[in-house]
Amino acid sequence: AFSAADQPTNSNVQVVVRVRPPNQREHEQGYKKAAAVDAAAQTLTLSVTPFARSFKFDYVADEDVGQEDIFQRVGKPITDACLQGYHCCLIAYGQTGAGKTFTMEGSFELFFCFVFGYARIFRFVNCFTTIPYSAFVQIYNEQVQDLLDPDSAHLNIREDTKNGMYVDGLQEVVVPSAEATYGVFRRGSQNRHVGMTAMNIESSRSHSVFTLVVESQRVVGGVMNRKTSRFYLVDLAGSERQKYSETIGIRLKEAGSINKSLSALGNVIKALVDISEGKVRHVPYRDSKLTFLLKDALGGNSKCTLIANVSPADKNGEETLSTLKFAQRAK
Ligand code: ADP
Ligand code: MG
Repeated sequence: AFSAADQPTNSNVQVVVRVRPPNQREHEQGYKKAAAVDAAAQTLTLSVTPFARSFKFDYVADEDVGQEDIFQRVGKPITDACLQGYHCCLIAYGQTGAGKTFTMEGSFELFFCFVFGYARIFRFVNCFTTIPYSAFVQIYNEQVQDLLDPDSAHLNIREDTKNGMYVDGLQEVVVPSAEATYGVFRRGSQNRHVGMTAMNIESSRSHSVFTLVVESQRVVGGVMNRKTSRFYLVDLAGSERQKYSETIGIRLKEAGSINKSLSALGNVIKALVDISEGKVRHVPYRDSKLTFLLKDALGGNSKCTLIANVSPADKNGEETLSTLKFAQRAK
């Protein structure tokens, strides 16, 4: 069963594609560009022998679009929405090496500066008190782990009827500045890297979710008005299909978990898009840890931007096609 609150009136999902520049190896191996961007039409045409196919998105960024531009075009509007009280998420999807982490890290820095710059102005003009705090988890094999407290046991995601989704027992660190927030992010990333390396696992096999909570208080007509919004920055596990020869035992289970959560994410977004078009649909948030955790930021009073990162090279054509199809479904 789902309630009326789960039914947004119009689509709150934006879909963006970013093509990264060719890397040195691609240049050396005689790289051929397979992804042609038409910036005016916001389309991307993928040419993989023997076919070419065009896709249209809300925004398509070619390889020459820098971090600052991505932030202005993608990060800033969603940050604005967060400061207005919407739960938000920015999700990077794509095969390993396509530029997810690069895109998210660029967004992080600018996003934090912007939030804190804004918070200061609010405080001055409107007597807002803003208490931002941050948390950082990774989801690996359908288990939630606190990256700021790496020795802790696996955590459970719970739903509170008043405050929404939360991770039980998660460390929340109060952050007084953009620099402090970035420091928390770096510390969690380092813990993620160390922990996964110790288990001999590529960190690209897990999803990481950085949360910044913005709590604003304001006196309106003598009454204290409190608003809390959450911003999730999600760096997904690589979407590439695993070769069967590499997928035995624990790796098989892992590949299954990644496929499960990525397809659950696709299904949830698709259901929300259908609902925004007037169809009655059940939204299967509970099908994965990832979608359950992000529930408030995907549906309801929320804004979500999916950034599909792709390689420009024809060698990656098949994975690029699969990424674009995923992104297309979210439209
Ligand atoms: P992913 O997280 O999807 O596995 P990365 O973000 O680690 O991919 O990117 C792979 C490599 O490509 C990194 O060395 C990164 O710095 C570089 N890269 C990715 N996107 C861009 C870009 N838009 N401009 C310049 N370099 C990029
Ligand atoms: Mg990465």
